[in-house]
Formats: sequence, structure tokens, C-alpha cells
Amino acid sequence: MFENMDKEYVLQTYPRNYVNFKQGINATLFDENKKDYIDFTSGIGVVSVGHGNEKVANAICEQVKNITHISNLFLIEPQAKLAKKISELYGKDVGTFFSNSGAEANEGAIKLARMYGAKKFKAKKYKIITLEHSFHGRTLATVKATGQDSFHKAEFSPYPEGFLYVKTLADVYENIDESTVAVMLELVQGEGGVTPFAKEEIQKLEKFLKEKEILLIIDEVQTGIYRSGEFLATNLYEIDPDIITLAKGLGGGVPIGAVVTKHKDVFGVGDHGTTFGGNFLATRAGCVVLDILEEYKNSGALDEALLYFDTKLKAIVQKFPSLFEKEVGLGLMRGLRCKEETNLPKIIKSAFEEGVLVLKAGRGTVRFLPPLTISKDEIDEGFKRLEISLEKIG
Ligand SMILES: *Cc1c(COP(=O)(O)O)cnc(C)c1O
Repeated sequence: MFENMDKEYVLQTYPRNYVNFKQGINATLFDENKKDYIDFTSGIGVVSVGHGNEKVANAICEQVKNITHISNLFLIEPQAKLAKKISELYGKDVGTFFSNSGAEANEGAIKLARMYGAKKFKAKKYKIITLEHSFHGRTLATVKATGQDSFHKAEFSPYPEGFLYVKTLADVYENIDESTVAVMLELVQGEGGVTPFAKEEIQKLEKFLKEKEILLIIDEVQTGIYRSGEFLATNLYEIDPDIITLAKGLGGGVPIGAVVTKHKDVFGVGDHGTTFGGNFLATRAGCVVLDILEEYKNSGALDEALLYFDTKLKAIVQKFPSLFEKEVGLGLMRGLRCKEETNLPKIIKSAFEEGVLVLKAGRGTVRFLPPLTISKDEIDEGFKRLEISLEKIG
């Protein structure tokens, strides 16, 4: 019934799976027939503190019964608190602009970089270099920044100018010219196959860019908010970027994005804005999510979960050498690289039928983005089901 309704009234832009989920508890979902599924996707890295999280639910209920939204023309107390918390957990003196999504955060970062490029230099710098296999969003500018030709459909042209993507980090150096203002990259390419860059190479690039007065923008929409095991992957890589963008896991399911920068004075009043961004609902959710995850990290539970998940992935690779080449990624942003890319859709379907949700990613990768609060029992059950589903394939 709802499948037909969806097909008739919702624009069909997704390859949608018509399971109708009715209930969620941490990393477990139940459909309308009460069949349960272990959720290794957390809604693509969004439900960082699990489904139906009581602390988040209570905080946002209390908030929306009072004030949901006023506008950025007035002080928003939880927005100020969340911005302060981000700065504290990151450990650097930064300011934040709140948006509603990852793409919007990246748009904000691009605008900030261009404003910097115009204000700081005699001849305006505007060009932004990105990497092949990257993903930065679906707006015209961020999709143009995305380093995958398949996203640049000719029908959507003309695209904004000033973006160039290169194959490898080494190619960045050769493609910088006098109009380059920034390099934007993910430390672990999520959509691009859960592929981390080497720490030394990133640190070398960071040093070079600093010398050249070129900004480093780190897209942490997927890697941020403890996904890597640290608050930011930037913390893990021990770098000091100019701009960091956040979104997915920050609101625990409530839409929110953030542009975080140490260049606090580049944007002036009126330079950038949003109606919804940073409202009471979203930033209240962000505050409680960060409180929960900070405690989870400090208690050692997060580190335990990611180590445990790692041993489970390694066991799968060992048990199914004909299917998988290796495990990839870090923290709770992980993947299994398929030997045959054609197996990927079969694996996802078989896993779903067995009651475990996994995602696809580029380079023939089965992607795992479980809630960070996933329990040991849920990990055990999920991998048990995954094994059964893989046995059916090969
Ligand atoms: C998901 C994602 C985006 C886009 O975020 P939206 O909220 O879908 O706009 C941008 N960058 C990265 C690295 C992402 O993973």
C-alpha cells in the first residue's frame, strides 16, 4: 500500500528498498511484520547514538514543546553551547556556522574559502582542488567539487567554475597555480570505498599548503563526530586544517551541518546565512549527542566497540577469501573490499534477507557505518547473520 503511494507521489530518485520500519532500538530495527534487522548503516552514519535514543528523544521533546525555531536574528542558546562544545572537543579555538546538511556545510566552506581568497590577496584566488573518488554533496557546486565524473550529468550544466579534481595527493602539488585558494578532501573517502589517506602524506600536504598560503578544507561530514574513534578524524591525523565541515552524526538523526574554522573573521554580517540552520531543535539535539558520545569515548566503550568490530571484519575476510580482498577503513567507518565488484549488490541483498543492513560504497566495497553505541551483542548477531548470508553466495 505505502509502496504504491511512494511510487505515485514521491519523486523516484532513489533505488528504494520497500521494507517498512516501524521501530528502532539502538542498532536494531523492526519492520511492520516485527522481523528484526541489525543496522550496520545508522542511516548512512547519521544515527550516531542509536535509534530511539532516550536522552536525545527527551531533550528534543522538551525543546520542541517550548521553542523549536526563532531565527538567526536572535540569540539561540543551544547554538552557542554547541559551537563552544565543538571547539572544546576539537581542542582548537574555532568558530562555527550551522547549516542543515553536509552539502550545505561544504557550500559554506567553499564560500568562506572564496571570501578569504578575495580579501586576502591582491589578485583574487578562487580555485578549489579536490580528489578523485571524493564525495562532497549534491548541490551544483558540491557535486562539481565531487571527484566522480558520473555525478556530473551534462543535463545539469552549466556548473559553477573553479573546481578541479586530481587523481592522487601527489597530483595536488602539480596542479596548484596562482588562482588556487584551497584543497578540499576527506581524510577517509566514504562514498569512495572507505579509503583512508596515509597520515604522513596528509601531514606533508598540510605543511606545503601552509607555506603556499592555500587553505586546507577537510570534509568531515562522514568521518567527524567520533566516527574515526576520535572526535574528528582531523584529531586522529594530527593536522590543523583551515576549515572543517560536519553533518551526518552531529544531530543523531536531526538534520544539521556545520562549517568549523579558525578564520573567524572572514565572514562578516550578511555574508552568509540560512533560515533553519542552527535552530533550537537541531542544536539542542547536537548538544545532547556530543554529551553522550564524549562520555562514551571517555569510558573506553567506543574504543572497545571499534576493536571488536575490527576482529569481526578480519574473521570474515579470512573465512571468505574468494569474496573479499581485505578489510578497509578505520574506527567504525569500515568496509570489505570485494574481489568481484559484481558480487556487491548480491551481498547487500543477501544480508538484508538474513536481517542485517549494510551499505555499498565505491571501489566494490561493502560499507559498515553502525551506530557508535552498537552493543557487543548486536555486533555478534549482525556478523552471525552476515556469515550466513555470505555462505549463500560463495
Ligand atoms: C554525505 C556526505 C556529504 C553530503 O551530505 P548531505 O547531508 O547528504 O548533503 C558530503 N560529504 C561527505 C564526505 C559525505 O559523506
